Amino acid sequence: MADRTVVVVEDDDHIAELLELYLSRASFRVERAMTGEGGLALVGRCQPVLAVVDIGLPGNVDGFEVCRQLRARGSVPIVMLTARGDETDRVVGLELGADDYVTKPFSPRELVARVKAILRRSSGASPATNTVVVGEVVIDIGRHEVRRAGEHVDLAPREFALLAALAEHKGMVLSRRQLLDRAWGYDWYGDERTVDVHVGQLRRKLGDDLPLATLRRTGYRLG
Ligand code: CA
Repeated sequence: MADRTVVVVEDDDHIAELLELYLSRASFRVERAMTGEGGLALVGRCQPVLAVVDIGLPGNVDGFEVCRQLRARGSVPIVMLTARGDETDRVVGLELGADDYVTKPFSPRELVARVKAILRRSSGASPATNTVVVGEVVIDIGRHEVRRAGEHVDLAPREFALLAALAEHKGMVLSRRQLLDRAWGYDWYGDERTVDVHVGQLRRKLGDDLPLATLRRTGYRLG
């Protein structure tokens, strides 16, 4: 079961214990750190399937910094825990590469549902090969692989899901709502700005090689 470990980085005992209880009921093994430094070390040691990271942590390394460093190291999915109603926190977290966030106070069941949804999306459930080529960019939807001019490009799971949704409808305009439904799932309550943040990430990583058009007040079109 070592491949089902979730690392929880949270200094609040009550919240951490709740998360451990619910995640272990869903047959995840939980490893917990109380500080950002501890969390980074723990992720290195346990190779978890996902990390849950609180933004407010004691010491020098807060949740944003944990997220930034984890993203620099690889593509472990990250769920941020944010304070109620703080949109800036949510947007910054997503810009740093978090895959999702839940707002405190949250239902542990909802968090477990989000964790499972992210893992379903990032597990490459469809074995069929389905490759879409746009300009210099090759998107292998079945294998969850993206190449730019022959070079592998490392995308976060949510960035890939967004790109795959656009690629599956190449040449068509998709609204932000349609993209949220396809890449985040119908049960996701986030606002449409989230799509813009992730499109910005895709443009940053794939640059001018990605023919991705923004249609004012309508949505996005690839190819
Ligand atoms: Ca905290």
